[in-house]
Amino acid sequence: MPPTIGFIGIGIMGQRMCKNLIKAGFEVHAFDLSPAAMEVAKGLGANTAPNLATLARQVEVVVCSLPDPAALLAVVDGPDGILAHLKPGSLICDMSTADPVTARAVHAKAAAKQIAALDCPVSGGPGGAEAGTLTIMVGGDQAALEQARPIFQAIGKNIVHCGGPGAGQAAKLVNQSLVAIHTVGLFEALLVGRKQGLDLDTMVNILRTSSGASWMLDNHIKMKALVHNHEPGFALDLLFKDLKLFVQTATESQAPAFIAGAALQLYNAARAAGHGKQDQTVVAREMEKMAGVELGVLKA
Ligand code: NAD
Repeated sequence: MPPTIGFIGIGIMGQRMCKNLIKAGFEVHAFDLSPAAMEVAKGLGANTAPNLATLARQVEVVVCSLPDPAALLAVVDGPDGILAHLKPGSLICDMSTADPVTARAVHAKAAAKQIAALDCPVSGGPGGAEAGTLTIMVGGDQAALEQARPIFQAIGKNIVHCGGPGAGQAAKLVNQSLVAIHTVGLFEALLVGRKQGLDLDTMVNILRTSSGASWMLDNHIKMKALVHNHEPGFALDLLFKDLKLFVQTATESQAPAFIAGAALQLYNAARAAGHGKQDQTVVAREMEKMAGVELGVLKA
């Protein structure tokens, strides 16, 4: 009998994962603070729970897709959080991007109540979530992973056991650091080219078949900042949070994070300019101001 799932956080990623779980035949109970998100959940065929306590009492596995560590801790261990209401033997799968320290705290608080926990952040964006092809980076016990595997198989393709509690979040932060570095590195290089009089399409066409190419250029940048589309696939506020957590984790680990630290400052400037809710690639607009030149709009 497939487990009943409680899904908390029906945002850009959550609603797509929820849809695939329902499609795979799971019974899903949803909760989100936003009434609009709850309407979306209803439309997908989920049962909507009026609060966390009701949700937790009805399910065997809780999946979270929340903005940040503070939201995760409030949901798990707040005054009326899920840990107070889940049955022993339940499982919490946190698919939000948080940090290793928070993941280990959730794991320990859950273990004290005989509840298993996995940190299992995802990569692949809204497109991967929609297609059910996400990469899932798992931290926690092998037994808990096997319990969660049918759920992960409904929403992801590449399921990687990274290690014990916190290892999934550590792997995700490594990826997020490179997302940010590759994004601002690309814009920085293109802006120097523009200052030298090079055309945007010319540069992008060269990069596509040259050693300076990147996943960001191929899959993301050309669809967003370079065509002036700032609708969030991945909000700048969220990447700022990830990068901040990466730098914090690097500092705690006594490892250098010079380049990520510089990227963090650029994203911070873009937030100060009011771009936090837009797609993370909107950082290009702030970098254009610093360079005193515009990248232009990609034609091809
Ligand atoms: P989002 O802001 O669209 O969704 C978050 C949802 O959580 C919102 O609907 C919000 O109302 C809800 N929420 C916030 N606090 C809550 C609480 N206390 N209780 C219940 N609901 C609450 O964000 P998203 O883009 O879907 O990202 C979700 C997580 O996944 C983030 O941690 C993000 O970093 C990560 N992520 C995002 C992407 C992406 O491309 N968007 C890709 C991979 C990972």
